[in-house]
Amino acid sequence: MDSNLQKVFVARRIPQIGIDSLAQQFAVTVHSGQLPPTRSELLSGVGGCHGILSLLSDRIDGEVMDAAGAQLKVISNFAVGFNNIDVPEATRRGIAVGNTPDVLTDATADIAIALIMATARRLREAWQAVDNLAWKTWEPTGWRGLDLVGSTVGIVGMGRIGSKVAQRLYGGWNMRVLFTAHRAKAEDTFPFPARQVALDELLTNSDFISLHVPLSADTRHLIGAREFGLMKETAVVVNTARGEIINQAALVNALRNKQIFGAGLDVCDPEPLPEYDPLRQCENCLLLPHIGSATYSARDAMAVRAADNLLAGLTGNPLPYPVN
Ligand code: NAP
Repeated sequence: MDSNLQKVFVARRIPQIGIDSLAQQFAVTVHSGQLPPTRSELLSGVGGCHGILSLLSDRIDGEVMDAAGAQLKVISNFAVGFNNIDVPEATRRGIAVGNTPDVLTDATADIAIALIMATARRLREAWQAVDNLAWKTWEPTGWRGLDLVGSTVGIVGMGRIGSKVAQRLYGGWNMRVLFTAHRAKAEDTFPFPARQVALDELLTNSDFISLHVPLSADTRHLIGAREFGLMKETAVVVNTARGEIINQAALVNALRNKQIFGAGLDVCDPEPLPEYDPLRQCENCLLLPHIGSATYSARDAMAVRAADNLLAGLTGNPLPYPVN
């Protein structure tokens, strides 16, 4: 390995297409364990690096930037969310931060739809009955769930992913769309009818509530006991954004007390969910292991975008997918 090459630390094995592109120009070290690097592995791994390719499970803060050294130029997150990175601190130090938007939008929107349907039709309980040999006959009153056609979806955070979820639900099931966003949106912003409302109005009037806001100080525990109290008893809550957006203790109460119909989660707090977490006992909750972007093409495209951000940052160019 040429010792004059700039160094890149890659915090996990990502699709090879991204590694190959980096290895042409840089000295690349990949943390090859199946699990994320421990804090001490991360701190030692980034030492002397000019670029870091991080994952959402890696907390990249001032301590990591210090451990890398003053030559660190760019942090490229293999995700669209970047709540794991202290962006203001990176900006203060003149370190560029990038992410991988757009290429995982459809894959993640599809998982939200899968969770909406699976929760509405109680697929976890139904599958468990098959698996446990509890399925005895066709039951006229058994396994009844909710219809999508003619119902209302509330999209909390009508950005790239939220608007694709809404488009699918309007086009496929003729659902009415309510939404929230940070900024006011013009009526003709979306190629389907959608009404921007306050969060409380959305929670009160939606049959399906799908969360798509980024995790920030403003959105942490955005949905808690008060918010569950506003929802219909037949409401389904789906979260493909970040686990911390829901107050999980309040969710467990709402599910146990049948305050809502069910929840479909691709994300939780913490991840993975501990063995004895009470959420596991809620049969009206379907939990996936954070697989929103897990299609072959989305993950390859994320690897290419993450590598492109590093290539640009390390050659003195603006990042193609910048965060700061
Ligand atoms: P995006 O395009 O930036 O959309 C975020 C939306 O949230 C925007 O509409 C924004 O409003 C709105 N928003 C931001 N802060 C808000 C607040 N405080 N209150 C209400 N609305 C707020 O992001 P995206 O690409 O759709 O991704 C959304 C999130 O999904 C990511 O941040 C990530 O955490 C998560 N994600 C998860 C997976 C997974 O594997 N499960 C995959 C991809 C992404 P404006 O439009 O007015 O700015």
